[in-house]
Amino acid sequence: MFSLKFNTSKLSQQQLLDIEKKFHQNLTLDMSLKLNVLSLNRTDLYAHALSLFVRSNVHKVLDLSVSQLLDFLIDVADKYTEAPYHTFYHAVDIVTILYYLCHDLNADMYLTDLDKSILLVAALCHDIGHPGFTNSFQINTKTELAGKYGETSTLETYSVHLTMELLSKHNTAHSHVVRDTIKDLILSTDMAYHSELIKQADQLVHLVEQARKSSSNKRKHSTSTTLMPPTTLSAESRTSLCRILLHAADISNMARPWVISKQWSDLIVQEFFSQGDEERKRKMTISPGMDREVCSQPSISLKFGQLILPYFESLVSLFSKSHVFVDFLVANRTRWERLDQQKQSPAPTITKTIRRVSSDIRATSTTVPTATTTTIAAATATAIKYKRIRLGFRTTLL
Ligand SMILES: [Zn+2]
Repeated sequence: MFSLKFNTSKLSQQQLLDIEKKFHQNLTLDMSLKLNVLSLNRTDLYAHALSLFVRSNVHKVLDLSVSQLLDFLIDVADKYTEAPYHTFYHAVDIVTILYYLCHDLNADMYLTDLDKSILLVAALCHDIGHPGFTNSFQINTKTELAGKYGETSTLETYSVHLTMELLSKHNTAHSHVVRDTIKDLILSTDMAYHSELIKQADQLVHLVEQARKSSSNKRKHSTSTTLMPPTTLSAESRTSLCRILLHAADISNMARPWVISKQWSDLIVQEFFSQGDEERKRKMTISPGMDREVCSQPSISLKFGQLILPYFESLVSLFSKSHVFVDFLVANRTRWERLDQQKQSPAPTITKTIRRVSSDIRATSTTVPTATTTTIAAATATAIKYKRIRLGFRTTLL
């Protein structure tokens, strides 16, 4: 039976039992892109996240029992805010996609258990504290967070700070190398690094191909039935690969089955329009893509889809099976184009299901100050960036 040290009052005995039961069931389930974390209630969400971490041996690497790992997950959830999009659900969704990338699309053949553990912890914590207002908003309104964490990647730096505090509280990941890499990965989720990460992906293609060939040759001549360790990629290249995978998962909402993609779009557009409303109230220039009187959900979605397509095309060069993301992106674009033509209302509507699960998870959340957005908002913070996006469109998209 799971027993908690820090969060004894947050879950009832029955909830703990439910988590444990579901966790054991999840250990043998196949992962699929059809899995929608937004359909999970709070206990199922914990069980799901816990099973992904345990299946990836994170507890062994971090030297934590499964109960201690659950305690850590609950504390992480507690530090996520009530922003419409940047919740603990977003964090677990990113962890889910990373697990899929690693295990089903074979990205993990280049990564050690330590690499994967660092990657999953960074993914779980990458938006901790995010208040639903972007880095640009923090800087332009001179928030306390901008003052404290600087004007470069303000919110990601804040998330790093909260993550390190939690790792210390749970007495794990003491190594400087491990902590520095977690920090590196969280900071790299700032959308400002989007183009840089495409370059890193393109640079890795050759090295990954070499590693694949070398690994397959070694396996051919080996009498051992175990997989070869990922010795053919340097530590630096493996960290670069982790950055690329984490960013891919973080921007993958548009590249998912339509029903899931639409739900996440509803949430991010709600968050953007809230910021736009706040900027209007303060008589500020409203950030691109955040003015509910000018922008529509389909137009925002189409622009973001066009922005991320080249990224997923680069990912295909690394892992051919990731073409599934490109396929969903293209199919979803058709849906958004149709909605755009029908001039759908810009205001998104949140389904009862999402509202219910969000309030479930909010029941364990504390109110935390400001933070940023890693998706379209940061990418569209200025008109200049929009211009770059347009220039980056592939002709096949037009
Ligand atoms: Zn994120």
